[in-house]
Amino acid sequence: MTNLINGVWEVVIGLEVHAQISSASKLFSGSAVDGDDGANTRVNFFDAGMPGMLPVVNSYCIDQAIRTGFGIHGKINKISVFDRKNYFYPDLPSGYQISQFYYPIVTGGYVDVQVQGEESRINITRIHMEQDAGKNIHDLDPKRSYVDLNRSGIALMEIVSEPDMRSVEQAVTFAKKLHTLVQYLGTCDGNMEKGNFRVDANISVHKPGTPFGTRVEIKNLNSFKFMQNALTYEIGRQIDLIEGGGKIVQETRMYDPVQGVTTTMRDKEDANDYRYFADPDLPPLVLTDERIEAIKRGMPELPDEKRKRFMEEFGLSEYDADILSNDRLVGEFYEAAISSGVFKDRKGAYKLVANWIIGELFAAMKEDSVAIADLQLHPGELANLVALIQDGTISGKIAKTVFEHMWKNPREGARQIVEKMGLKQISDEDVIRPVIQDILARNEALVADFRGGKESVFGFFVGQTMKHFKGQANPEVVNALLNEALK
Ligand code: ADP
Ligand code: MG
Repeated sequence: MTNLINGVWEVVIGLEVHAQISSASKLFSGSAVDGDDGANTRVNFFDAGMPGMLPVVNSYCIDQAIRTGFGIHGKINKISVFDRKNYFYPDLPSGYQISQFYYPIVTGGYVDVQVQGEESRINITRIHMEQDAGKNIHDLDPKRSYVDLNRSGIALMEIVSEPDMRSVEQAVTFAKKLHTLVQYLGTCDGNMEKGNFRVDANISVHKPGTPFGTRVEIKNLNSFKFMQNALTYEIGRQIDLIEGGGKIVQETRMYDPVQGVTTTMRDKEDANDYRYFADPDLPPLVLTDERIEAIKRGMPELPDEKRKRFMEEFGLSEYDADILSNDRLVGEFYEAAISSGVFKDRKGAYKLVANWIIGELFAAMKEDSVAIADLQLHPGELANLVALIQDGTISGKIAKTVFEHMWKNPREGARQIVEKMGLKQISDEDVIRPVIQDILARNEALVADFRGGKESVFGFFVGQTMKHFKGQANPEVVNALLNEALK
């Protein structure tokens, strides 16, 4: 993929993604992660950096990081080490953050991304675990600042990519795919507004064939839109600077979404000296083969595998398969509906069921802000609805009415609703024929027009017949009978 800017500049991007590990308690303490009881309510002595408090590893968080490692096809390291990253900041009461620097839990791996139909592999350097810091609050009081330690000690995974991306679109696609993946695996809730998934983007420009340019890091991008805008802006800034005879300095920048620009946060001069060393309170993290194997066995089918299988097994388009495979619950809903055993023609139902999920079901969910996890509608009921269309009991149009009713009354089955509301499609020729005869008799002039070659009036007759049956007449039968009568 080469899209050179101004004909000469190639963009190089590498990402560092911070994903909060989904877990009830923190990485080294028993404090709760979630809750809404106000500032400093989920802080125990360890999280507050009290002297003498000892960390205890939360093994569930470790398992979550391993799961994520398998999700990106990485190598799970049997031995990893927690290091102290020393720095001073008011939201870090212990004076150091526990992280993994020299020996991370996962090394290597990759994520395949598709941009404009072209697939490319983005390599992952590593995943390491670390603690989150607290939060300084400066806007409550003009004279004072406050510190909220609720976040202090929450487990994060930092997923670091190789500088493998060559366009903004590719970088955003990669970040989105990672975002989907961690949610699929249940290892991070992906809530970007809360900062539970945030991206640091490293970006440089160079001329192909020459060494990479000096990189600039843009910190804490917590929306894909911001990420796209920040990177686009930064590319322009770097190229203008170089073409104007200037030099890029390695620095950390912030994105200001209001102005749409990046600004200097700190340059290399104030680069921190973290004095990393292995935390003496924590032994190396040693994983047994049994534990690693057990997690591997418990891994779900990954979204990429599922997408390919949906295309092969159900003949779905890449687009449909992609939508149905990105969320585990959506995929399960689809497969449950397909295997409900109610279809006259099972194969014929594959595409129909996909359409109903992606169309009507998603629209209703969006309209009422219902998440897939909270769905009242049973997949077997959607299958029943599709089966009713398939066997001609109702038309596709009537099915939408039935669906609306089902959506509001999830306890009532599709068949029940059709019975109760009298929505059954009328296919009986002996019922439809006399009505047609009557319509033709009342419109003799139009019948003559038709026979004289004006075929467009056929639609009028169909419309009149449908109107009589309130849309419930079987359109195929109506067409056939009209053709027969007008011959
Ligand atoms: P550091 O340890 O200083 O953070 P790393 O080598 O770990 O530096 O790189 C951090 C991130 O920067 C990685 O995601 C990597 O892919 C990316 N990166 C490294 N060099 C470049 C470059 N020249 N241009 C763009 N991104 C880069
Ligand atoms: Mg780094």
